Amino acid sequence: MRNPKALSPLDRMLWLSHQLGDETRGLAILGEGNTSTRIDSQQFIVKASGSTLGNLQPQQATACNSKSLLNLLKIKKISDQEVDQALLDSRIDPKALKPSVEAVFHAYLLSLPDVHFVGHTHPIAVNQLLCSGKGKLFADKRLFPDQIVCCGASSALVPYTDPGLILAKTIRTQVEKFIDHTGTLPKTILIENHGLICIGKTEKEVLASTLMAEKSAKIMVGALSVNPKGAVYLTATQVQRIAGRPDEHYRQKILNQS
Ligand SMILES: [Zn+2]
Repeated sequence: MRNPKALSPLDRMLWLSHQLGDETRGLAILGEGNTSTRIDSQQFIVKASGSTLGNLQPQQATACNSKSLLNLLKIKKISDQEVDQALLDSRIDPKALKPSVEAVFHAYLLSLPDVHFVGHTHPIAVNQLLCSGKGKLFADKRLFPDQIVCCGASSALVPYTDPGLILAKTIRTQVEKFIDHTGTLPKTILIENHGLICIGKTEKEVLASTLMAEKSAKIMVGALSVNPKGAVYLTATQVQRIAGRPDEHYRQKILNQS
């Protein structure tokens, strides 16, 4: 049986990548999506640009310096070439492959407390909602208890922006707003017309949130098509009851155990 405690962060990230990139799940195909994990407060590993999640190999995961990428978030104006160079310069091993263009948002999310794994995918049903103006509804509303357990009481919503540095800056702004508003980290981050990011303490937690977000999206798409007046959402009181229940916290803990 797989024992994550005996595995290195890279092995755990590769396992997550292969799970998220399994084409039968409809979460990511070809070069879509990316994954990352924290090594320590200074370094993290991220999928290399152009590689495929489903069969990601150790040499296609690039170790980067967190600080050099986090510094990019402070710069107001920077050209695409300069961002490209900064991505190359962030590599710990200069012979390693170029990190994904989304490495900056991975560096930011992995700097948040208790976030050790990040999984970004383009799931079909989630994108059906994010490409139809239903993103806010999907982020704010909850349909069933396990959605709250795995995806949180609500999700952070990021408006569409250019992938790369602008997206990383917009994600940071929206995540900070979410934390201010709810007092918690989002488990799921939805990017309009783009896809999903799940963050967690373990690779298992990220996989559970991703699969449950996609299942929730399928249920919402179905409910909206069955009932033209709209889906029946849980009330705020019902959502808070599940989010605050000790047995649900226990279930969450079991689900997330590494
Ligand atoms: Zn993407």
